[in-house]
Amino acid sequence: MGLQCRFCGSFPAVEATVRGHQGLIILMRFLKLQGPFCRTCGIATVRDMTSKSLWQGWWGIGSSIINPITMLMNIGPMQKFKSLPEPAPGAPGRPMDPGKPLFRRPAILGLLLPILVIAAIVIANLSTTTTSEAAVGQCVVNNGTADDPDVKVVDCTSSEAAYKIIGKLDDSTDDSQCDQFEGVEASYTVERGSTKYTLCLAPV
Ligand SMILES: [Zn+2]
Repeated sequence: MGLQCRFCGSFPAVEATVRGHQGLIILMRFLKLQGPFCRTCGIATVRDMTSKSLWQGWWGIGSSIINPITMLMNIGPMQKFKSLPEPAPGAPGRPMDPGKPLFRRPAILGLLLPILVIAAIVIANLSTTTTSEAAVGQCVVNNGTADDPDVKVVDCTSSEAAYKIIGKLDDSTDDSQCDQFEGVEASYTVERGSTKYTLCLAPV
């Protein structure tokens, strides 16, 4: 007698391992289910674990690399299951419900998650011009407070523009040196790791 499905007792069945992945930011979970599977239980398991991975598999840097590999590793088992005939009637248990194909499940939208994350990072970097690249002649606005400034470069013609950079002191946090620039009324000093500079500002 050949292999029997581990889940419903049907045969024919094949040996295979179906995988899933969960990314938990720092932790990862590698899920796997071992056969033998009949055709129906095999297809059901691949669809179920892959659709969960589509949502849960991306959450972490390592996970976002491992997840697509995990999902691709289910293609081999899926082909094995599809080449089996339907389970013979009279099995002790009922084969699992194979459900809809993956491409007709909402979970397939999970494929867009990594693309959306990358797009969000790119957009965030494009829209925020930090002051470290700011040059004399450009304008800035302070969206924070005097104690906790959040200074951004803005277009000088925009209504947001509050100050014009009239001098920039590289590698210096000594804002008294701003006095050398005529019309200076404010300064903005940044010290972050090895980066330090001072912007000397005049009202627009
Ligand atoms: Zn089965």
